[in-house]
Amino acid sequence: MKNSTAGLGLPHTASTAADWSDAIGGAPPASARNVLLWENTRKEFRELLEGGDLKAVILPVGSTEQHNEHLAMIQDTASATLVAQQAALLLYPRVLVATPVSVGISPHWMDRKGTLTLRKETFLAVVFEICESLQVHGVKSILILNGHGGNVIPLQEAVNWFREKLGIDVRFHSYWEAYTPEIVEQYMESKRVPGHAAEFETSFALAGFPERVRWEGVDYDTVKSTLGIRDPNSAAEEEQFARDARLATAEKGEAMIGIAVEWVAERVREMMPEET
Ligand SMILES: [Zn+2]
Repeated sequence: MKNSTAGLGLPHTASTAADWSDAIGGAPPASARNVLLWENTRKEFRELLEGGDLKAVILPVGSTEQHNEHLAMIQDTASATLVAQQAALLLYPRVLVATPVSVGISPHWMDRKGTLTLRKETFLAVVFEICESLQVHGVKSILILNGHGGNVIPLQEAVNWFREKLGIDVRFHSYWEAYTPEIVEQYMESKRVPGHAAEFETSFALAGFPERVRWEGVDYDTVKSTLGIRDPNSAAEEEQFARDARLATAEKGEAMIGIAVEWVAERVREMMPEET
């Protein structure tokens, strides 16, 4: 697994032809980093657009929120961005990844320290205005790719309005829609996806960004009585998730990331008529 090289510290960022072959297989792109819109210059973006190569943009949306004692709070944003980046690399150079929306709708976690949250209207306004910016530049297809449960219903409700208002193809998916019950059964001992900071997300992080898994000093049984979680059901669920997290492995994460990347690439292909 390659170490982080760009942007949010994403892995799998092949920087040489050899790395690329290791990571994905097939011919290397001129520059893997260039699928990240924010790493392009305006010249590079303009030439991609005006040359007709750019067919779609993936906009990752996530959260900055507590992920129990052992995962970094950027987990959901980093997960959606990693899947988006890898899918865009599969479709290179026709797809770019827009700058992720890294704070989501997380009021339900505000009794855990560190969580940041936006009101629904604020969040939807930010997502819409990023889509609008892309539309102004001439982008015709946008896949909003989500990595956080609290964003799902608001975006499902809003996406048709986004599409009508902007007059372009805007679609919405969460990357874990890739996982059928059979896949969950096959790979997850706890049988739960996505869960929260449990077996699945910890496995994803171990494979995708292991520097964000920090077990050192974590003793959930000792700390749980000091956390002050108000809702007893939520506290019980968190305790179960903390136990399930110990089932995580990088191998499970690698498999699940690969499945999501293929699935998202297929959704983007469906938005590029000449591809189907
Ligand atoms: Zn999460």
